[in-house]
Amino acid sequence: METILSISNLNKRFGPLHAVKNVSLEIKKGNVYGLLGPNGSGKSTTLGIILNVVNKTSGDYAWFGGKLETHEALKKVGAIIERPNFYPYMTAEENLRLVCKIKGTPYSKVTEKLELVGLYDRRNSKFRTFSLGMKQRLAIASALLNDPEILILDEPTNGLDPQGIHQIRDIIKQIAAQGTTILLASHLLDEVEKVCSHVMVLRKGEVLYSGAVDGMSSKQGFFELQSDDLQRL
Ligand code: ADP
Ligand code: MG
Repeated sequence: METILSISNLNKRFGPLHAVKNVSLEIKKGNVYGLLGPNGSGKSTTLGIILNVVNKTSGDYAWFGGKLETHEALKKVGAIIERPNFYPYMTAEENLRLVCKIKGTPYSKVTEKLELVGLYDRRNSKFRTFSLGMKQRLAIASALLNDPEILILDEPTNGLDPQGIHQIRDIIKQIAAQGTTILLASHLLDEVEKVCSHVMVLRKGEVLYSGAVDGMSSKQGFFELQSDDLQRL
Protein backbone atom coordinates (compact mmCIF):
# COMPACT_ATOMS: atom_id res chain seq x y z
CA MET A 1 0.00 0.00 0.00
CA GLU A 2 1.22 3.48 -0.90
CA THR A 3 2.66 5.55 1.95
CA ILE A 4 1.11 9.00 2.21
CA LEU A 5 3.11 10.29 5.16
CA SER A 6 5.99 8.87 7.07
CA ILE A 7 6.95 10.42 10.44
CA SER A 8 10.12 9.29 12.14
CA ASN A 9 11.35 10.17 15.62
CA LEU A 10 9.73 13.57 15.70
CA ASN A 11 10.47 15.76 18.72
CA LYS A 12 9.24 19.17 19.75
CA ARG A 13 10.39 21.15 22.75
CA PHE A 14 8.86 24.41 23.93
CA GLY A 15 11.69 25.54 26.20
CA PRO A 16 11.76 23.02 29.04
CA LEU A 17 8.56 21.32 27.91
CA HIS A 18 9.10 18.22 25.78
CA ALA A 19 5.73 18.32 24.04
CA VAL A 20 6.33 15.65 21.36
CA LYS A 21 8.64 12.74 22.14
CA ASN A 22 10.04 10.47 19.44
CA VAL A 23 6.81 10.18 17.56
CA SER A 24 6.88 7.86 14.55
CA LEU A 25 3.94 6.99 12.33
CA GLU A 26 3.44 5.51 8.90
CA ILE A 27 0.26 6.63 7.15
CA LYS A 28 -0.87 4.34 4.35
CA LYS A 29 -3.36 5.20 1.64
CA GLY A 30 -6.99 4.43 2.38
CA ASN A 31 -6.76 3.98 6.14
CA VAL A 32 -8.33 6.09 8.86
CA TYR A 33 -5.89 7.05 11.60
CA GLY A 34 -6.76 8.36 15.01
CA LEU A 35 -4.37 10.52 17.00
CA LEU A 36 -5.80 9.92 20.45
CA GLY A 37 -4.78 11.55 23.70
CA PRO A 38 -5.98 13.85 26.47
CA ASN A 39 -5.65 17.62 26.21
CA GLY A 40 -2.02 18.65 26.16
CA SER A 41 -0.72 15.30 24.92
CA GLY A 42 0.85 16.80 21.78
CA LYS A 43 -1.74 16.07 19.09
CA SER A 44 -2.06 19.58 17.67
CA THR A 45 1.68 20.16 17.87
CA THR A 46 2.29 16.98 15.86
CA LEU A 47 -0.26 18.05 13.24
CA GLY A 48 1.26 21.54 13.18
CA ILE A 49 4.70 20.11 12.43
CA ILE A 50 3.61 17.87 9.56
CA LEU A 51 1.60 20.77 8.10
CA ASN A 52 4.62 23.04 8.36
CA VAL A 53 3.09 25.62 10.70
CA VAL A 54 5.14 24.53 13.75
CA ASN A 55 8.91 24.08 13.60
CA LYS A 56 10.13 20.67 14.70
CA THR A 57 13.01 20.33 17.17
CA SER A 58 14.32 17.10 15.66
CA GLY A 59 13.25 14.09 13.64
CA ASP A 60 11.79 13.98 10.20
CA TYR A 61 8.69 13.47 8.11
CA ALA A 62 8.17 12.81 4.43
CA TRP A 63 5.05 13.42 2.36
CA PHE A 64 4.58 11.00 -0.54
CA GLY A 65 8.20 10.02 -0.14
CA GLY A 66 9.66 13.53 -0.10
CA LYS A 67 9.22 17.19 0.63
CA LEU A 68 5.87 18.75 -0.17
CA GLU A 69 5.86 22.11 -1.95
CA THR A 70 3.03 24.52 -1.12
CA HIS A 71 1.24 24.23 -4.47
CA GLU A 72 1.30 20.45 -4.16
CA ALA A 73 0.11 20.56 -0.55
CA LEU A 74 -2.92 22.61 -1.63
CA LYS A 75 -3.89 19.82 -4.02
CA LYS A 76 -3.05 16.70 -2.05
CA VAL A 77 -3.57 17.56 1.60
CA GLY A 78 -6.80 18.88 3.08
CA ALA A 79 -6.53 20.06 6.67
CA ILE A 80 -8.79 21.67 9.24
CA ILE A 81 -6.72 22.52 12.27
CA GLU A 82 -8.38 25.77 13.27
CA ARG A 83 -11.93 26.91 13.91
CA PRO A 84 -13.76 27.26 10.57
CA ASN A 85 -13.34 30.73 9.17
CA PHE A 86 -15.20 32.04 6.13
CA TYR A 87 -16.63 35.36 5.01
CA PRO A 88 -19.60 35.92 7.35
CA TYR A 89 -21.77 37.89 4.90
CA MET A 90 -21.24 35.56 1.97
CA THR A 91 -23.32 32.43 1.47
CA ALA A 92 -21.96 28.91 1.88
CA GLU A 93 -21.88 28.52 -1.89
CA GLU A 94 -20.18 31.86 -2.48
CA ASN A 95 -17.52 31.05 0.10
CA LEU A 96 -16.77 27.70 -1.53
CA ARG A 97 -16.67 29.21 -5.02
CA LEU A 98 -14.09 31.63 -3.74
CA VAL A 99 -12.00 28.72 -2.44
CA CYS A 100 -12.33 27.07 -5.88
CA LYS A 101 -10.99 30.22 -7.49
CA ILE A 102 -7.98 30.25 -5.16
CA LYS A 103 -7.25 26.56 -5.61
CA GLY A 104 -8.02 26.39 -9.33
CA THR A 105 -10.83 23.88 -8.79
CA PRO A 106 -13.90 23.74 -11.09
CA TYR A 107 -17.07 25.25 -9.56
CA SER A 108 -18.90 21.97 -10.20
CA LYS A 109 -17.17 20.60 -7.12
CA VAL A 110 -19.06 23.04 -4.89
CA THR A 111 -22.39 21.27 -5.35
CA GLU A 112 -20.82 17.84 -4.96
CA LYS A 113 -19.14 18.70 -1.67
CA LEU A 114 -22.11 20.65 -0.25
CA GLU A 115 -24.22 17.55 -0.87
CA LEU A 116 -21.62 15.33 0.77
CA VAL A 117 -21.72 17.33 4.02
CA GLY A 118 -25.50 17.80 3.94
CA LEU A 119 -25.43 21.56 3.36
CA TYR A 120 -26.76 21.75 -0.19
CA ASP A 121 -30.16 22.94 1.06
CA ARG A 122 -28.43 25.70 3.00
CA ARG A 123 -26.15 26.79 0.16
CA ASN A 124 -27.78 30.24 -0.06
CA SER A 125 -27.55 30.97 3.67
CA LYS A 126 -24.91 33.36 4.89
CA PHE A 127 -22.04 31.83 6.81
CA ARG A 128 -22.77 33.97 9.87
CA THR A 129 -26.14 32.26 10.32
CA PHE A 130 -24.56 28.80 10.55
CA SER A 131 -24.33 26.78 13.76
CA LEU A 132 -20.87 25.59 14.81
CA GLY A 133 -21.64 22.13 13.41
CA MET A 134 -22.64 23.60 10.06
CA LYS A 135 -19.51 25.75 10.03
CA GLN A 136 -17.44 22.68 10.70
CA ARG A 137 -19.20 20.79 7.90
CA LEU A 138 -18.61 23.69 5.51
CA ALA A 139 -14.93 23.60 6.43
CA ILE A 140 -14.87 19.89 5.58
CA ALA A 141 -16.56 20.57 2.24
CA SER A 142 -14.01 23.28 1.54
CA ALA A 143 -11.05 21.07 2.42
CA LEU A 144 -12.39 18.37 0.08
CA LEU A 145 -13.08 20.61 -2.95
CA ASN A 146 -10.03 19.44 -4.84
CA ASP A 147 -10.31 15.81 -3.72
CA PRO A 148 -7.14 15.64 -1.63
CA GLU A 149 -5.38 12.34 -0.93
CA ILE A 150 -5.66 12.89 2.82
CA LEU A 151 -7.94 14.85 5.12
CA ILE A 152 -6.51 15.98 8.45
CA LEU A 153 -8.93 16.99 11.20
CA ASP A 154 -8.07 18.37 14.63
CA GLU A 155 -10.89 17.72 17.12
CA PRO A 156 -13.67 18.39 14.59
CA THR A 157 -16.49 17.61 17.04
CA ASN A 158 -15.29 19.86 19.87
CA GLY A 159 -18.05 22.09 21.18
CA LEU A 160 -20.81 20.38 19.20
CA ASP A 161 -24.08 19.00 20.55
CA PRO A 162 -24.72 15.24 20.23
CA GLN A 163 -26.55 15.63 16.92
CA GLY A 164 -23.73 17.72 15.48
CA ILE A 165 -21.19 15.17 16.70
CA HIS A 166 -23.05 12.32 14.97
CA GLN A 167 -23.31 14.27 11.74
CA ILE A 168 -19.58 14.97 11.62
CA ARG A 169 -18.68 11.37 12.47
CA ASP A 170 -21.01 10.05 9.76
CA ILE A 171 -19.49 12.41 7.23
CA ILE A 172 -15.97 11.32 8.16
CA LYS A 173 -16.99 7.68 7.71
CA GLN A 174 -18.50 8.50 4.32
CA ILE A 175 -15.36 10.29 3.18
CA ALA A 176 -13.27 7.33 4.31
CA ALA A 177 -15.58 4.95 2.43
CA GLN A 178 -14.87 6.96 -0.72
CA GLY A 179 -11.20 6.07 -0.28
CA THR A 180 -9.79 9.28 1.21
CA THR A 181 -7.11 8.71 3.82
CA ILE A 182 -7.92 10.40 7.14
CA LEU A 183 -5.92 11.55 10.14
CA LEU A 184 -8.19 12.53 13.01
CA ALA A 185 -6.93 14.04 16.26
CA SER A 186 -9.32 13.52 19.15
CA HIS A 187 -9.40 13.23 22.92
CA LEU A 188 -12.53 11.09 22.71
CA LEU A 189 -12.02 7.35 22.89
CA ASP A 190 -15.41 6.46 21.45
CA GLU A 191 -14.87 8.82 18.52
CA VAL A 192 -11.68 7.02 17.53
CA GLU A 193 -13.27 3.62 18.11
CA LYS A 194 -16.23 4.50 15.91
CA VAL A 195 -14.38 6.16 13.07
CA CYS A 196 -10.79 4.90 12.86
CA SER A 197 -9.09 1.69 11.77
CA HIS A 198 -5.67 2.61 13.20
CA VAL A 199 -4.64 4.67 16.18
CA MET A 200 -1.65 6.28 17.81
CA VAL A 201 -2.26 6.97 21.49
CA LEU A 202 -0.30 9.88 22.96
CA ARG A 203 0.20 10.86 26.57
CA LYS A 204 2.39 13.80 27.55
CA GLY A 205 3.95 13.67 24.10
CA GLU A 206 4.82 10.00 24.32
CA VAL A 207 3.47 7.21 22.13
CA LEU A 208 1.66 4.69 24.35
CA TYR A 209 0.24 2.57 21.56
CA SER A 210 0.35 2.51 17.81
CA GLY A 211 -1.52 -0.01 15.70
CA ALA A 212 -4.97 -1.33 14.92
CA VAL A 213 -7.82 0.18 16.92
CA ASP A 214 -8.90 -3.35 17.84
CA GLY A 215 -5.66 -3.96 19.75
CA MET A 216 -5.72 -0.71 21.70
CA SER A 217 -7.73 -1.70 24.74
CA SER A 218 -5.67 -4.83 25.46
CA LYS A 219 -2.50 -2.73 25.70
CA GLN A 220 -1.04 -2.66 29.18
CA GLY A 221 -1.63 0.66 30.93
CA PHE A 222 -4.50 1.58 28.67
CA PHE A 223 -7.08 1.20 31.38
CA GLU A 224 -5.32 3.77 33.55
CA LEU A 225 -5.09 6.21 30.69
CA GLN A 226 -8.75 5.73 29.98
CA SER A 227 -9.85 6.38 33.53
CA ASP A 228 -7.38 9.22 34.11
CA ASP A 229 -7.78 11.31 31.07
CA LEU A 230 -9.68 10.12 28.09
CA GLN A 231 -13.19 9.94 29.45
CA ARG A 232 -12.97 13.44 30.79
CA LEU A 233 -14.65 15.74 28.33
P1 ADP B 1 -3.16 18.63 22.34
O1 ADP B 1 -3.46 19.09 20.97
O2 ADP B 1 -3.00 17.15 22.46
O3 ADP B 1 -4.15 19.13 23.34
P2 ADP B 1 -0.88 20.38 22.14
O4 ADP B 1 -0.06 19.82 21.03
O5 ADP B 1 -1.73 21.55 21.83
O6 ADP B 1 -1.74 19.22 22.79
O7 ADP B 1 0.08 20.79 23.34
C1 ADP B 1 1.06 19.92 23.85
C2 ADP B 1 1.79 20.65 24.95
O8 ADP B 1 2.58 21.69 24.38
C3 ADP B 1 0.88 21.30 25.97
O9 ADP B 1 1.47 21.19 27.25
C4 ADP B 1 0.82 22.74 25.51
O10 ADP B 1 0.56 23.61 26.58
C5 ADP B 1 2.20 22.95 24.94
N1 ADP B 1 2.26 23.94 23.87
C6 ADP B 1 1.60 23.90 22.69
N2 ADP B 1 1.90 24.96 21.93
C7 ADP B 1 2.79 25.71 22.63
C8 ADP B 1 3.48 26.93 22.37
N3 ADP B 1 3.34 27.58 21.21
N4 ADP B 1 4.32 27.38 23.33
C9 ADP B 1 4.50 26.71 24.48
N5 ADP B 1 3.88 25.56 24.79
C10 ADP B 1 3.02 25.05 23.87
MG1 MG C 1 -5.16 20.12 20.28
